[in-house]
Amino acid sequence: MNHFEPANRRILTLKSGKERLVANRHPWIFAGAIARESGPDNAALADLLDPQGRRIASGFHSQHSQIRVRALTFGDEELTEATIRERINAAIARRTVAGRIAGNGETTNAYRLINAEGDELSGLIVDRYDDIAVIEIANAGVEQLRPLIIDCVQQAIAPRGIWFKNDIPARKIETLPMDPEWIGEGEPAAEIRENGLRFHVDAPSGQKTGFFLDQRENRALTRTLAASRRVLNLFSYSGAFGVYAAAGGAASVENVDSSTGAIELARRNHALNGSEATYTVADAFDYVRKTAARYDLLICDPPAFAKSRGDIDRAARGYKDINLFAMKLLDPGAQMLTFSCSGHMSLDLFQKVIFSAAQDAGRRISFVRRLTAAPDHPVSLFCPEGEYLKGFLLEVH
Ligand code: SAH
Repeated sequence: MNHFEPANRRILTLKSGKERLVANRHPWIFAGAIARESGPDNAALADLLDPQGRRIASGFHSQHSQIRVRALTFGDEELTEATIRERINAAIARRTVAGRIAGNGETTNAYRLINAEGDELSGLIVDRYDDIAVIEIANAGVEQLRPLIIDCVQQAIAPRGIWFKNDIPARKIETLPMDPEWIGEGEPAAEIRENGLRFHVDAPSGQKTGFFLDQRENRALTRTLAASRRVLNLFSYSGAFGVYAAAGGAASVENVDSSTGAIELARRNHALNGSEATYTVADAFDYVRKTAARYDLLICDPPAFAKSRGDIDRAARGYKDINLFAMKLLDPGAQMLTFSCSGHMSLDLFQKVIFSAAQDAGRRISFVRRLTAAPDHPVSLFCPEGEYLKGFLLEVH
């Protein structure tokens, strides 16, 4: 079936008064803004009309989600197969051409190829781990265009295989399969290089698509700060921050994570890089309360505590608690990289939380840098919701 044929597209008509939403090029068109609809209800694509019947946007369609259209084109731009091919190719070229984003491929061969709205492809994430690609699709319309996406990715990077992760909760709402799928040769795993360091990535068991690519630059910063320091890596997962710290000449590296599997992975990654560390399977909140150790460089990169807007207060208490007790482990001169990857937590609120942690910890603290996701995770100006990772490099006085 040709999803791009007019007869195969859903037609949604906007309620009057909602035109401004679309004029702002925000890609999410919500059910509440739609007055009436026609055409196949499971169409992959939809055209959005204004109340006078003029097309004002086109994009991926879902009959299940509150986001009924993920707009790709606006005004009288046509949405064709070529549009999607061009978007995918442009996104990949932005990463690979001239090494502007991810280096020359020699020292780094793992990066995000397509970052949803940030690459004008709402609903689609594609990560590259050396010779495999990992794809996460969040929308029923995008899912129907899988053959086109596979073709583009194969032509652009010729991966050994593509792993469809299929595990994000949105897929349930979209009534899409939650079982992963591997199209390719061998195993869906890779040993990647990042800034010259080596990491094992296993797509099926890995968190997110396998590795936290968004932290690449913050890990590189950690390497430059680590010399001769006692380093604590809280919520260590793959141990990646710890591996960078060790590579930067840390006096010691302690990785703490509550998951035995994560600690095993951290051990494996330290071994791959010939570096020493210690490992503790523990709840980080307990660890920072109980340890007698002191540290000079501390990384605090917890999972998203706020999964929804209603969680913000509880999440803020969690961030304050872990940061407060972490700060107590530091003496003057020490530094700390602290993060929140909750999209619902604003930078402003996170800064306030860090302020109140410092106050209660009785520490005098400045921040010397704001930290964000690496540039292979661009954020659309028209969809600021895509910015989720925020952090500070703090210094204790
Ligand atoms: N910093 C990591 C990513 C952290 S992901 C990196 O750069 O790769 C969050 C990690 O926190 C996961 O590994 C999870 O197992 C761990 N985690 C979740 N809750 C925890 C808790 N209460 N105490 C310790 N670790 C926890």
